[in-house]
Amino acid sequence: MAIYITEECINCGACEPECPNTAIYEGGVNWELEGKNYGEGNAAPSGAEGFYSADFFYIVPDKCTECKGFHDEPQCAAVCPVDCCLPDPKHVEDEATLLKRKDYLDQIGR
Ligand code: SF4
Repeated sequence: MAIYITEECINCGACEPECPNTAIYEGGVNWELEGKNYGEGNAAPSGAEGFYSADFFYIVPDKCTECKGFHDEPQCAAVCPVDCCLPDPKHVEDEATLLKRKDYLDQIGR
């Protein structure tokens, strides 16, 4: 399952540098994957939609591995001062899927 950031986010930015997959972006900033640039209204290659935020930090589901392969727990959730990094019920995934994504991100260089 990917992690997502709720609208409780206070834009402190503590999470962004902690993400080993560069899955976290500041609100209003476009995100990248495999050299392609995506913005508001663009679906991710997986088909995921609705995660982009113009107002607060957001997580790209196609890049989040829940920190599997790096850490024992999601690092964004561990450092968030208002506990707004939560498991995303819209993107429930098993460990094998998350580790496969980690391998894929390893290959493309994030
Ligand atoms: Fe990044 Fe880990 Fe948070 Fe996912 S759970 S967004 S991989 S820090």
